[in-house]
Amino acid sequence: MERRGGSAPAAYVTTSWDDGGDGDARIGAMLAERGMKGTFYWPVAADHPHYQLPSTRVATDLLSSGMEIGSHTVTHPLLTRIPADRVRSELVESKARLEEHIGRRVDAFCYPAGYYDRRVRDATEAAGYRLARTTVGLRIDAGFDPFLMPVTLQLFPHGRRVHLTHSLRRRNLRGLLTWVGRFHGTADLERLTDAALDLVVDVGGVFHLWGHSWELEENGLWSMLAALLDRISERPGIRHVTNGEVVNALVSGGR
Ligand SMILES: [Zn+2]
Repeated sequence: MERRGGSAPAAYVTTSWDDGGDGDARIGAMLAERGMKGTFYWPVAADHPHYQLPSTRVATDLLSSGMEIGSHTVTHPLLTRIPADRVRSELVESKARLEEHIGRRVDAFCYPAGYYDRRVRDATEAAGYRLARTTVGLRIDAGFDPFLMPVTLQLFPHGRRVHLTHSLRRRNLRGLLTWVGRFHGTADLERLTDAALDLVVDVGGVFHLWGHSWELEENGLWSMLAALLDRISERPGIRHVTNGEVVNALVSGGR
């Protein structure tokens, strides 16, 4: 954070939810009840039970409670593994179709399965988005490239080995150092959440929780989500924002 002055550094919490599906309406209601926000990343026409475009009605309900809806491509391909013209059509076509479906401009994008490289990042910016979210985790820093937006924690009980291998695979040294040095190297989601919130309130930055509603459903994680959202929303001194609002506040220089 650059601006210090006499006031406390700005502490933000945002959440994001990938792949669509029926459970997104439930997540949206749980967030709204607690004064929290989220960005929901939907693929528009993927042929897979995990990747389902919710109805216009669900979109309207989410948007009216202050949530954001972003694109997650048309078919949920791994973008680094397909030719440039297909990358472009996945980005451009999904944006246009989603805007038509929800009746609102779509600024946010999320890379399927976290697969991106320089070429994909630049194509996303060229397609007219304003931000793209990755799956680079264990991060709370605010000064990121808006097309490489990091996250903090996934709503899933990963073990320590997974945190380690994810960080190494993504060359996420900064996240790894934060995890070891500031989050006590724990895999316990409640302890991780507390440590990350402590740090965000202390030095400023963004706590970003993400997940998939199908994964909550398949693994019976709804009560874990409720407990974690209670824990987060009870914290004073935090601004609850969508992914787009994070970028507006921090990266674009607005307030
Ligand atoms: Zn996905």
